[in-house]
Amino acid sequence: MTFKELGLTSALLKAVEKKKYTEPSVIQEKAIPPVLEGRDVLASAQTGTGKTAGFTLPMLQILSQEPPLRRRPVRALVLTPTRELAAQVFENVKEYSEFLNLRSAVVFGGVNIKPQIAKLRNGVDILVATPGRLLDLESQNVVSLSKVEIFVLDEADRMLDMGFARDVNRILKLMPDKRQNLLFSATFSKEIKKLADRFLSRPVTVHA
Ligand code: AMP
Repeated sequence: MTFKELGLTSALLKAVEKKKYTEPSVIQEKAIPPVLEGRDVLASAQTGTGKTAGFTLPMLQILSQEPPLRRRPVRALVLTPTRELAAQVFENVKEYSEFLNLRSAVVFGGVNIKPQIAKLRNGVDILVATPGRLLDLESQNVVSLSKVEIFVLDEADRMLDMGFARDVNRILKLMPDKRQNLLFSATFSKEIKKLADRFLSRPVTVHA
């Protein structure tokens, strides 16, 4: 199987080529096609499986298929439990979107909020965020989630372990009901299944 056979367009294939990936990983092979079809996806995948490209590549492709909206409201939100992970996902988003006309930003707590505010005021198509700082920025009306088309919950199990369940629920309520949802988790507890039931609609389940 090649990345091309998975249905990725030339701008994304070029970015993948630059990374020198020779073939898709198992999770990429399984997750990319249903995401491109617009389906909700429930994926079990550990770090190191290539899961980030598994959701980022098809997400970027979907976003690039339509011209950017005027004023660039956030169209894709990736929520991660830690700032390290947020920074890592953002790096991936930047690399894979190099040949696309899409803007992205990352926000997390523990650092000065002002540069994040300045960046968001310019408008971004893709936002990678940790829950607390995102809610803070939203409550200050710096960012709106009312145009989110794709929502990714990365490392959902760690998110719950770290006590972010309520924040995630609050964030879910700030997005439109009609959107595509992807949930990635290394483990599947009862709590994760409950969370998945709450916001995934007829998901395709994939395992790394
Ligand atoms: P992740 O599981 O998303 O944290 O990715 C783990 C590592 O695998 C990262 O350093 C990626 O750059 C790398 N990677 C992702 N996809 C592939 C691939 N298809 N072939 C080789 N390496 C990859």
